[in-house]
Amino acid sequence: MTVDSLNMALTRIKEKSNKISKIFLAIFFTFIFGNVFFLKWVKRDFPEFEWLSGVVLVIAFSYGGWFLWKLSKIKKVNLPHCPECNSVIIETQIPVVIASGNCTCCGKSIVDKSV
Ligand SMILES: [Zn+2]
Repeated sequence: MTVDSLNMALTRIKEKSNKISKIFLAIFFTFIFGNVFFLKWVKRDFPEFEWLSGVVLVIAFSYGGWFLWKLSKIKKVNLPHCPECNSVIIETQIPVVIASGNCTCCGKSIVDKSV
């Protein structure tokens, strides 16, 4: 494992999470703000369908849950593993591994600093 490959993994995760986060936030806030206007309109014209607003909120928050699951999956797939103990090196540990050259789990030297 080299410092470059660790930095690349970090960059890849950041790029992918940024992209999916932007799409998520756009859709999520469209749901939430759209629901405010929807509720106003429903309350005025169809008060018997007010519960639909709750359904929209449930959908929005389920979508939020799905997003968090997807984000964790992206990280899991792209995070590097320690070649010695095979544990996942999480995002926040990567700078520590780069600086020390050792695995944060087993402590063995895993970064090839000669490259
Ligand atoms: Zn290890």
